Amino acid sequence: MIEIYSSYGCKICKHEFVLLSEQEQEQLKNNRYLVCPYCSSQKVIKQNKSDSLKECMSARSYKREKGAIRQR
Ligand SMILES: [Zn+2]
Repeated sequence: MIEIYSSYGCKICKHEFVLLSEQEQEQLKNNRYLVCPYCSSQKVIKQNKSDSLKECMSARSYKREKGAIRQR
């Protein structure tokens, strides 16, 4: 299993968060908006950096928070 993270920044609350690319693709495929996990804003912008340890850890908590979406 390849784990690639995409990094996003929220334009509203300025938090940064990451999504697993797999998760990102799935959301886009289902026409779900990508939303900020902190303020639920849809105004998020993709950033270029990836895979720092800190980001991986926040990805993990995001994944748990949104676990329902990932169940198939
Ligand atoms: Zn936000």
